[in-house]
Amino acid sequence: MRQTRRHFLSLAAATVGSITVLPYSVRAAGQSGDKFAGGRITVHPISHASFVMATPAGTIYCDPVGDAAAYSSFPKPDLILVTHHHGDHYKPRTLAALVGDKTQIITNPAVHDKLPTELKARTAQIANGGSTAFGKLGIDAIPAYNMTKGRLKFHPQGRDNGYVLNFDGFRVYISGDTEDIPEMRGLKDISLAFVCMNLPFTMDVKAAASAVAEFKPKSVYPYHYRGRGEGGTQDPKEFARLIGAAAEVKIGKWYG
Ligand code: ZN
Ligand code: ZN
Repeated sequence: MRQTRRHFLSLAAATVGSITVLPYSVRAAGQSGDKFAGGRITVHPISHASFVMATPAGTIYCDPVGDAAAYSSFPKPDLILVTHHHGDHYKPRTLAALVGDKTQIITNPAVHDKLPTELKARTAQIANGGSTAFGKLGIDAIPAYNMTKGRLKFHPQGRDNGYVLNFDGFRVYISGDTEDIPEMRGLKDISLAFVCMNLPFTMDVKAAASAVAEFKPKSVYPYHYRGRGEGGTQDPKEFARLIGAAAEVKIGKWYG
């Protein structure tokens, strides 16, 4: 509880003259990272659903979209994960600009079908419930879908992926675009989670917090929280408040 309160208080940005000083938790996100027996994982939010992770298994880009220049300060990716084909998760032009000689890509089958030939040659596909490995890193494809009437068309069940990455026991969950589905609520032993929230495409902050309180990751990044229209954008501070002591909430700088 104490830790949560400290974190929550640190969310307030201070303004000094005309310079806004970002709170410590925001500046710290992506710098020190999570240390565990197998090494350290450092998260670098890029924007919305796109991020880079420095890990013992190499540099991993998740759903990289946008201008390739945003990634220029990072090493070329050893692995790129793509959850699904929507434009805020998959941009073939960005992928083509980012891949290095040895980059491996992993996608869901729907993205695999759409890939240009030269990218397809370096891509493996896994479907919901499937597993693969990248060296010693285990990768499970977790379902990601809508289950609320009126939203089903956005992410129909069975098509899109979330991922669980197993770094020798340090397990990272990347939700992709989904609601608080039973497969998320039933996750076990997650060390670090990335959980989406926005409307109408995924879920609101209450559903996201309720799911996180159930599967209890050690820490969680709210991400992908800007949506469409009034009430579409979800507030990560409200998410943190709802989570309380159930998990450490990490606030990244996902939006400019
Ligand atoms: Zn989507
Ligand atoms: Zn999305």
